[in-house]
Amino acid sequence: MQVRWEHLTPPEFKKLAREEQVCILPIGSLERHGDHMPFGTDGIVVHDVCVRAAGKEPCVVFPPYWFGQVHEASCFAGTINFPTDLTCTIFQHLLDEIARNGFKKILIVNGHGGNTNFLQYFMMSQADREVDYTVYLTFAYGGDKFKALDIWEAPGGGHADECETSLIMAAAPGTVIMEQQTQPEPILPKHDLSHLNRIYTGLWWYDNYPENVTGTPSLGSEEKGEAALSAAAEDLSEVIRTVKDDTVLPAMQKEFYARVRAKKENV
Ligand SMILES: [Zn+2]
Repeated sequence: MQVRWEHLTPPEFKKLAREEQVCILPIGSLERHGDHMPFGTDGIVVHDVCVRAAGKEPCVVFPPYWFGQVHEASCFAGTINFPTDLTCTIFQHLLDEIARNGFKKILIVNGHGGNTNFLQYFMMSQADREVDYTVYLTFAYGGDKFKALDIWEAPGGGHADECETSLIMAAAPGTVIMEQQTQPEPILPKHDLSHLNRIYTGLWWYDNYPENVTGTPSLGSEEKGEAALSAAAEDLSEVIRTVKDDTVLPAMQKEFYARVRAKKENV
């Protein structure tokens, strides 16, 4: 069954939108993942997870959205950032457009850690404007089956590490050039700013990983990646089911908007 927005024809699209009511929106980034991995890793992998999940729990999958928050990697070739206000404005318009095409529920599936705070702020801002659709947010790799995977040989890591290298090897075979990973492993956080105890700075990530690569990438393999994609897709299909079944949040949203309107009328 076709589930990818860009692969659907009008009759299939309308049927899926009418029967399932859910569109899922994978969001990644364009950024350096060391010297051995492609810039588009986050969007490619999260989109693959979404397509697999939609094969189990039907819904429409929007194409990968590349333009997340990645200011911390502006110093590297391959990174694309928009101004902060434009990032929010375009993303809001995108949700409106998806809804205008017949979807009552939109599930944002985040595949890039640097988007987390941006997306949480964006979700809170949805309370400011009355719309006829409901937005949900989940992280592609936060589910039980993914977290229970017992296949990783190196502890810790994250960005461009054993796990992420494996994920892209399985999602886009041939895109990893392992010989180009020449950093001594394991790549541990540097913590040059550790004197700033309990103080947050936008350069915390750059401080720890100035080459935008972590952990032990050389332990990555396509087999591990296949297992991880499959676990993440299982987890995500359960989230999609939960979103489909949910009637409480849409009703609460209506009640909330009614109270906002009533407050304005009483001022
Ligand atoms: Zn990544």
